Amino acid sequence: MSNARVIAIANQKGGVGKTTTAVNLGACLATLNQRVLLIDIDPQGNTTSGVGINKADVKYCVYDVIINDVAMADAIMPSGLENLSLLPATIQLAGAEIELVPTISREVRLRRAIQTMRNQYDYIVIDCPPSLGLLTVNALTAADSVMIPIQCEYYALEGLSQLLNTVRLVQKHLNTSLEVEGVVLTMLDARTNLGLQVIEDVKKFFRDKVYKTIIPRNVRLSEAPSHGRPIIHYDPKSRGAESYMELAKEVIGRD
Ligand code: ADP
Ligand code: MG
Repeated sequence: MSNARVIAIANQKGGVGKTTTAVNLGACLATLNQRVLLIDIDPQGNTTSGVGINKADVKYCVYDVIINDVAMADAIMPSGLENLSLLPATIQLAGAEIELVPTISREVRLRRAIQTMRNQYDYIVIDCPPSLGLLTVNALTAADSVMIPIQCEYYALEGLSQLLNTVRLVQKHLNTSLEVEGVVLTMLDARTNLGLQVIEDVKKFFRDKVYKTIIPRNVRLSEAPSHGRPIIHYDPKSRGAESYMELAKEVIGRD
């Protein structure tokens, strides 16, 4: 029996490539014959729609699992892609951040739910919302490691100390085995020097934690979600598909 490796994709900044990385890393791992569960814990539900699931078809979402104690097995949906399942999010989850506050064991709800399904998968990838609230804390508490996407842009490192501080607090109080899986640089525009400078700065800060694979800016990656398809199915020959495939291999190689 295998025990899934649980990776939370987190950065409280919006628009850095969390969802794109969750969907496409998940789909590429699945293509490499890994059994993958994607967990969408962002009320925007972009990972849910990104794998082609219509929110109107969602019976139970991650909200029901962490707030209403619905069994995770009842909420997981097939994505239509081989080896790839989804625990969906809908806008209902927007209330969870506040509803969790007075709840007993509020930080460990997702972790407990995941325990029941861990032996069914090789990887569980959690897409976090753009905040450091209780939903992200639930993800970090449930995870073996956190993957941090950083956009190759000005102010790339801004706000990271807050994120790392949250990681340290979770390590101290909730999940002593949480590791920083790595930093993935995203949306590199090779035509500018700025991106190269950012890469240098991030490498100085995170050293060997930075993945060799750097995700380029690729228009096919931004089109794929509106077709409800991960890039490896939408345009397998694109640079975006190649780079997420490379990242998936690197992730497998690090285990
Ligand atoms: P987050 O989940 O961190 O808010 P997203 O993954 O949703 O970030 O990305 C923000 C926007 O940038 C989306 O419109 C997405 O399609 C686009 N995007 C993400 N990565 C790339 C990329 N490598 N190339 C081009 N567009 C990208
Ligand atoms: Mg997102």
